Amino acid sequence: MAEYTYGMNTHLYENIFKIANKLLKDYDITSFPIGINIIEEIIYDYGYNIEYFDNCKRSCVLGNCVICGKKDNEDERRITLSHELGHILIHCTNQLENEKLQLDKQESQVEAFILYFLIPDFEIENNLNMSMYEMTSYFGVDEKLIKKRLKYYKKSIRHKYE
Ligand SMILES: [Zn+2]
Repeated sequence: MAEYTYGMNTHLYENIFKIANKLLKDYDITSFPIGINIIEEIIYDYGYNIEYFDNCKRSCVLGNCVICGKKDNEDERRITLSHELGHILIHCTNQLENEKLQLDKQESQVEAFILYFLIPDFEIENNLNMSMYEMTSYFGVDEKLIKKRLKYYKKSIRHKYE
């Protein structure tokens, strides 16, 4: 049964892949790393404000506001904002009101969103010959994310031809 479901979907999180790809298309995003200003613009377009605080230990969405740390470097901020954007697009709920199990599931979905959005399939295809270091600077993310994304990518390629 599980194999049958896999055969139908090319991507690990097919619906989230579609959400990320639509965003890339709608905002005509073709250069990488994706600019912080573009991610901010998308968040504003969805009706949310962004507040940066000095002593923010953990970013979150509260009401219609995205709360982030001020001290993050650019790559951290790119990932943090994309993370919260993922919550906005996929969940539309107040995180603090959810049960623990539900939260774990949401976090995995959001991680999938970040990977598909910040490191799209077509960009991986065009840059497969890059070293790990080149990839981290090209996409503006850390090595952990690149490794995870390449795993997703290889699985999706395999499913395509199954
Ligand atoms: Zn989260």
